[in-house]
Amino acid sequence: MPPILNDQLNLTGHALTPGAQRSWWLREALAQNAGQPCPPLTKDVEADVVIVGGGFTGLWTAYFLTQANPKLGVVVLEQDICGGGPSGRNGGFASGWWDELDGLIKLYGEEPAIRACRAISDSINAIGKFCAEHGIDAWYRHAGYLYAQTAAGHAASCEEMVELAHKVGAPDELRELTQAELRSRCDSPAFRAGAFMRDGASVQPARLVRGLRRVLLERGVTIHEGTQVTRLEPGSKAGAVTPQGTVRAKHVVLALNAWATGWPQLERRLVAWSSYIVLTAPAPDKLKAINWTGGELISDFRTSLRYFRTTNDGRIAFGGGGGRARPTIDDAFTHDSRAVAEAAQGFRLMFPSFADVPLEDGWGGPIDVSPTHLPTFGTLAPGNIHFAVGYTGNGVAPSHLAGQVIADLVAGRDTEAVRLPMVNPKPRLFPPQPFRSWGAAAVRRAMIAKETAEEQGRRPNALVAQIARMPRRMGYLLGPE
Ligand SMILES: Cc1cc2nc3c(=O)[nH]c(=O)nc-3n(C[C@H](O)[C@H](O)[C@H](O)COP(=O)(O)OP(=O)(O)OC[C@H]3O[C@@H](n4cnc5c(N)ncnc54)[C@H](O)[C@@H]3O)c2cc1C
Repeated sequence: MPPILNDQLNLTGHALTPGAQRSWWLREALAQNAGQPCPPLTKDVEADVVIVGGGFTGLWTAYFLTQANPKLGVVVLEQDICGGGPSGRNGGFASGWWDELDGLIKLYGEEPAIRACRAISDSINAIGKFCAEHGIDAWYRHAGYLYAQTAAGHAASCEEMVELAHKVGAPDELRELTQAELRSRCDSPAFRAGAFMRDGASVQPARLVRGLRRVLLERGVTIHEGTQVTRLEPGSKAGAVTPQGTVRAKHVVLALNAWATGWPQLERRLVAWSSYIVLTAPAPDKLKAINWTGGELISDFRTSLRYFRTTNDGRIAFGGGGGRARPTIDDAFTHDSRAVAEAAQGFRLMFPSFADVPLEDGWGGPIDVSPTHLPTFGTLAPGNIHFAVGYTGNGVAPSHLAGQVIADLVAGRDTEAVRLPMVNPKPRLFPPQPFRSWGAAAVRRAMIAKETAEEQGRRPNALVAQIARMPRRMGYLLGPE
């Protein structure tokens, strides 16, 4: 990868190591409390449920399974450490789905769409309660979500989003903000007008995922880190096969996020795109000077979303704006200096008053983009393999709900959670390979180029604009209209 331009971006030296180190969040969380070791699996064992993947989805599933039945034998297998993947690398936005209403209604109809939004609201609140109950200081702060228009073309999307929430009888969930109102909460010169969504809490994601791990270990859940599942042997006692042992269990949970691109059971349900975050040095006075002291989550309206939030110690974590699509999960998701530079450029554009504040860290990870921009949860044939996939970079709150749903599916319970519309819907699939990879790579770059041109007041290249619109033309709920 080419080196990033330190001088131009005002990065400090040790920021140049995406992937070579854990995210800043995870390093901070591990320094607080590394937790007890969870050594690799070294023999064959039996369990009631084996969970592949130790991120939020896998761990919330283990949490809800053992909540309902403390005696259940649950084994979690994680190739890295719990939270080493995106659950310990994300922006920490636990955000609502009211901005997804349009897609939800198109897919499932109005009443189920509202039920889904309410369920996500409940999950956001429940994460806060969970932290309080279990003494997990994950910096949970429920301060809402600001949408900022940064290009003329964003006004219509903003208006439509707010109007739809009003139309379905949820006017308190989303409301428009004038430019003055928006800038009174965060004064960026890039902001035009915007909107406020009530559902939004920030977390230190790695503290949350490591706290969840601690709670599960206290409950007697077995976790093997450094244990990669290489294949699944189906059957009434399915086998999760690893290099040094197999876990046989009645139920298997695939909590794989973007790694599902390598699993035949799920691969056509997603494409993997990268997303990168940069983190400033602490600058609480600068935050005060731009009025951003309320802890609100903020994003723009680009489909190659830029998202940013503050931290307890007065930093800004700023994500997005770049990234690539790739057929398999490789170093490009964690070692891409160019993507760090793109995130840094976005940050410098939005926050010129932080020009002398260095960026101290940068890291990335894969996101599992679904054809609908929304995740699905469910059960695969022959009936004992369960999954959640397709968060599309918005899994912090939904993975909590996924855990509940999957626990109910495993137990065969008929609950409100399993009756949500994103549980076992008719699968929407991307094209087979190699078309999926070619299309995903071309569309991702076209979207970014189109939106960057619009933001700079330029007319995007006609071919680029056509390519960016391709997913919508193909019936996917992705990218610009
Ligand atoms: C940079 C970035 C920023 C993001 N920001 C936000 C945000 O602000 N808000 C939000 O809601 N979402 C955000 N997301 C998305 C969010 O992080 C994910 O949706 C969420 O963490 C998904 O949780 P998960 O448990 O499904 O996946 P993961 O955390 O990826 O967990 C899956 C785990 O499976 C393991 N695994 C994979 N294959 C195997 C195998 N064969 N054997 C054993 N283990 C395996 C992986 O190592 C990984 O730890 C962001 C993502 C990225 C990358």
